Amino acid sequence: MSDEKQTIIIIGGGITGITAAYYLQKMIKEQQLPMECKLIEATHRLGGKIQTVVRDGFVIERGPDSFLARKQSASRLIHEVGLQDKLVHNATGKSYILANEKLYAIPGGAVMGIPTKIRPFALSGLFSPIGKLRAALDFILPPTKAEGDLSLGQFFRRRLGDEVVENLIEPLLSGIYAGDIDQLSLMATFPQFFHLEQKHGSLVLGAKRTTPKTKETGNKKGIFQTLTTGLQSLVDELEKRLEPGSVSKGIRVELVEKQGRRYRLHLSNGEVWTADSVIVAAPHQAVPEMFPNVSFFAPFKAMPSTSVATVALAFSASSIEQDIDGTGFVVSRRSDYTITACTWTHKKWPHTAPKGKALLRCYVGRPGDEAIVEQSDDEIVRVVLDDLNKIMRINGRPEFALVTRWKEAMPQYIVGHKERIETIKAKVGEELPGVFFAGSSYEGLGLPDCIDQGEEAVKKALEYLQV
Ligand code: FAD
Repeated sequence: MSDEKQTIIIIGGGITGITAAYYLQKMIKEQQLPMECKLIEATHRLGGKIQTVVRDGFVIERGPDSFLARKQSASRLIHEVGLQDKLVHNATGKSYILANEKLYAIPGGAVMGIPTKIRPFALSGLFSPIGKLRAALDFILPPTKAEGDLSLGQFFRRRLGDEVVENLIEPLLSGIYAGDIDQLSLMATFPQFFHLEQKHGSLVLGAKRTTPKTKETGNKKGIFQTLTTGLQSLVDELEKRLEPGSVSKGIRVELVEKQGRRYRLHLSNGEVWTADSVIVAAPHQAVPEMFPNVSFFAPFKAMPSTSVATVALAFSASSIEQDIDGTGFVVSRRSDYTITACTWTHKKWPHTAPKGKALLRCYVGRPGDEAIVEQSDDEIVRVVLDDLNKIMRINGRPEFALVTRWKEAMPQYIVGHKERIETIKAKVGEELPGVFFAGSSYEGLGLPDCIDQGEEAVKKALEYLQV
């Protein structure tokens, strides 16, 4: 190895890229490695999909609002930057499904829609007697004979029937991925359900046996966490800890070329930088553009992404004349609504609204029905308010509304996704050694999954450079 420092360049400053930059620079410093790490971000800010707006005492998340607490990499990162006293769990409360134009409480004991308690499910008005009987076939049907991947829809429809899927499972699961469950890959999204079914013979029994029993009384802790200062504060704290001069914002990587063992990155400001290793933390759509001559990136051109918009509505609490006891609802496709979900954010996350105010956050846009995202802000707010007024009574206009469009922002892990990514990564290992991929297009789109991938890419880049 020469005396010259080796350079690692990270492309993309969303949570994945900034996590990678933070841990990599920390290791370089602690272990005095002869390396430098640079981060290049196309826009003028870091954080990517994480964007918090603090306005008139409201804390509004335009993109992600929380993360799953049981996946620990996010809270570990938050502790790293000293924000642990800002961590809160969501307040628990009733949540609902809007199906056939009515709100139904999600039956007690449902885990991602899979019943683990028979009574609340049997008594729920969400399903017809025939739908319930069909779901009971889960107890006797043999496990799925799957040789490859299959869609979430195929898997769940076979076990529990169309009605339970469409009134409960579909709205819950498709909300997470903004996707179509009849196209989303079981193995890339919820492989644990396949393994439960294979091991226990029944999905319901498997979920029942493996779900920890919760106490009926006492304070239950919510399963999500966020920061009272907003998720953007994590990004800001990480950015403050990066080496001065190591972050370039407002510059796009346009082309990456291999030259011997190194890579030349052509930037939108006309400069060309050289790297010994590259971590690509940009979404899949950007990859074929950056590597135009690499044929094995073609599947990224065919990988779909869906568009959604979040609509935050700030009210005086007194404007909500007829309230609902709960924290929110998701909407089944069997309802004539444009909104796909709504959170009573001031109840689920009390820190987000000042006293005497209410904050509602709705989603619009779903696969095959994304045109609403293209409408004007005023039109989107009108449609959302009309929908809300069908199930609660809101008096007057919001004090303000924030519409955020996320165009082609939700990568779709459609059937075969895992295998396609594994094939691409193997090819990259052979033909582009030292290049690593991380982030929401690849191996999980939750914030902790992105953080895990950022950390993993750092390990791989260091292993590669130290051989
Ligand atoms: P991004 O945040 O997309 O960052 C990628 C960055 O790369 C961008 O900043 C982009 O500008 C940059 N870039 C692209 N091309 C180039 C280039 N050529 N050169 C340089 N830079 C480039 N997850 C949860 O866990 N909980 C939630 O509550 C949740 N809610 C969500 C709500 C919405 C509306 C959305 C859209 C997502 C939500 N998610 C949630 C998912 C999660 O927010 C994302 O998966 C995650 O933030 C993606 O992070 P990332 O760093 O991989 O990508």
